[in-house]
Amino acid sequence: GRKFFVGGNWKCTGTTEEVKKIVSNLNDAQVPSFDVVEVVVSPPYVFLPLVKNSLRPDFHVAAQNCWVKKGGAFTGEVSAEMLVNLGIPWVILGHSERRSLLNESNEFVGDKDLPWRSLLHKPKQLQRGYQTGLMLSWPMSPVWAIGTGKVASPAQAQEVHSELRKWLHANTSPEVAATTRIIYGGSVNGANCKELGAKPDVDGFLVGGASLKPEFIDIIKAAE
Ligand code: 13P
Repeated sequence: GRKFFVGGNWKCTGTTEEVKKIVSNLNDAQVPSFDVVEVVVSPPYVFLPLVKNSLRPDFHVAAQNCWVKKGGAFTGEVSAEMLVNLGIPWVILGHSERRSLLNESNEFVGDKDLPWRSLLHKPKQLQRGYQTGLMLSWPMSPVWAIGTGKVASPAQAQEVHSELRKWLHANTSPEVAATTRIIYGGSVNGANCKELGAKPDVDGFLVGGASLKPEFIDIIKAAE
């Protein structure tokens, strides 16, 4: 089966003190084991080393973006190699905010996949036991539900996720379709997560606003 996945996307928010507080709350939380739920939090770049070095080891850390190719003369960018070097095995690519505010196209987002994939598949990384991956946002994420408090109904989420899985089945392979986790994002909170997560094709969440609050723990527990 597909292990339930709960991502926390902190977006462009937080001070060092706030980040320390969130990490401390997460470290103290009683949650289902890693066999049941995979938890990945995504702080802004500047806080990645702090979070990586202070967060409990059963939770993983993701960057919110990365550069499209190898490092070099690309002022202001951060490459996939740098993230892997820091021990950051996850990245969010193509988030709807980057698509709409920074004009990232499908093609550009697709190209970012390449340096990341080649790095993640190096045996050295795999030996160190990293869970690795991409959280790739589809262009059809429900933008009307992001940051608005208007969550998709469980039936709506299930319908779209099932269509996405059918697409994967037809365009990749039955195995990829069966194993790819399709996670829902858009106004997930402690109150609506259980019903959404119970849908067969909702394999977890990417949580924005609520991932900064103590209710993120309730969302992790919804995996049970
Ligand atoms: P909200 O949970 O704040 O709506 O954000 C969702 C999102 O952008 C997922 O990354």
